[in-house]
Amino acid sequence: MAVRTARVRLELGETLAGPAIASYRGRVAGERILLVEDDERIGSTLLRALLGSGYEARWTRSGHDGERAAAEQAPDLVLLDLGLPDVDGLDVCRRLHGKDANLAIVMLTARDEELDIVVGLDAGAIDYVTKPFKLAELLARIRAQLRRVEARSTSEVVVGDITLDPAARRVRMGEDELTLRPKEFDLLARLMADAGHAVTRETLMTDVWDEHWFGSTKTLDFHVAALRRKIDEPGALSRITTLRGVGYRYELS
Ligand code: CA
Repeated sequence: MAVRTARVRLELGETLAGPAIASYRGRVAGERILLVEDDERIGSTLLRALLGSGYEARWTRSGHDGERAAAEQAPDLVLLDLGLPDVDGLDVCRRLHGKDANLAIVMLTARDEELDIVVGLDAGAIDYVTKPFKLAELLARIRAQLRRVEARSTSEVVVGDITLDPAARRVRMGEDELTLRPKEFDLLARLMADAGHAVTRETLMTDVWDEHWFGSTKTLDFHVAALRRKIDEPGALSRITTLRGVGYRYELS
């Protein structure tokens, strides 16, 4: 698929240059996203952005069509508008979540009063973005949500003598169980998921701290240092290599 370089204009007045969107490709190829949105302009803009980001995306304009498509397509994530013409988006969300609790859902809400209800739903698999939203933020949320659901459902990750079990949230080094703080665990899981590859600071901030981070990332370095003290042998090379100005890489050996 060609990388789209045209500027994408969101109905809500935001523009984002093509290359910025294209930079989300690579890691996401093949993940399936179902978009359920009745607004033509928002729908077509989002569809283009999703395809341009490397996702396999499909767009339906009603709740019924959305549920049918979800049953056929088995998407990895559903981007769901709450204000649909035929059914309440929240009901669609509940039914989809009831059928598959590990399905990632990101809801698009226009009204503040809906937020309480949305937040009351399973926070692990369901996230929301309020309109008007920034396209970059929405794409970051989608990625974070896909990662989180992946981490929930994947089985053990083994690199060298370290075994990480996302479901049980346990880490073993050889026979010894390590005691990690929650963010240290999330950080290790994220780095090990891409072992041998660079993971950028921005990706780590987004996926581990759930933020599209433009400010200080000192907290990231702090947690990497803490993690190194727990997983590295004294005097040996670190399992986590610092890539100056880029991020970190978890070494395969
Ligand atoms: Ca709508």
